[in-house]
Amino acid sequence: MNKMETLCLLCSQPLQSVISWKLLLTKQFQPTICERCSAKFEYSSTASAFYQYNDAMKDYLHQYKFLQDVALAKVFRQKLYARFKHEKATIIPIPMHPLKLRERTFSHMEELLKAAHIPFIQLLEKTTAETQSSKNREQRIQAAPLFRLMDGAHVEHKEYLLFDDIKTTGTTLQHATELLLKAGAKNVKSFTLING
Ligand SMILES: [Zn+2]
Repeated sequence: MNKMETLCLLCSQPLQSVISWKLLLTKQFQPTICERCSAKFEYSSTASAFYQYNDAMKDYLHQYKFLQDVALAKVFRQKLYARFKHEKATIIPIPMHPLKLRERTFSHMEELLKAAHIPFIQLLEKTTAETQSSKNREQRIQAAPLFRLMDGAHVEHKEYLLFDDIKTTGTTLQHATELLLKAGAKNVKSFTLING
């Protein structure tokens, strides 16, 4: 066994990790955050999300999405791998608007899946750069479709799973689900990292 000292990605305290054959053989990823930071995240009671939104999660999202700390994509990789490794549905991460992607430099949902070695495809394109949280409820309900199919996208008659970071009103997932069903998907389910 080799001992390797790295730092917690959230609090920078030394993290002592052990590389063992077990880790390598069972596809266990090295932890990237310390147990103290990990304990600050609150588990969700629903089966369609891992966590409940709280202060620790707010800080995480701020650092990951707004400060563009792409290394933080690794924080949840073990849980995501365990959740999706036997997933039969085709996974589609909720996309960002191209302008936002240029501003943020990476697609935060795609990076989470890549860090967990989970295959996914993209069929959707965001039509608006506005965020849902900047609108009130009435505006959200009346809003034009949030997504369209990408040029040349082929929706098959099978099951898809939409993956998003946080579910608050559910509008985003609802729009994407309706679009895929109309385009011929057999079934569309969803999973979010956080329940808002
Ligand atoms: Zn820590």
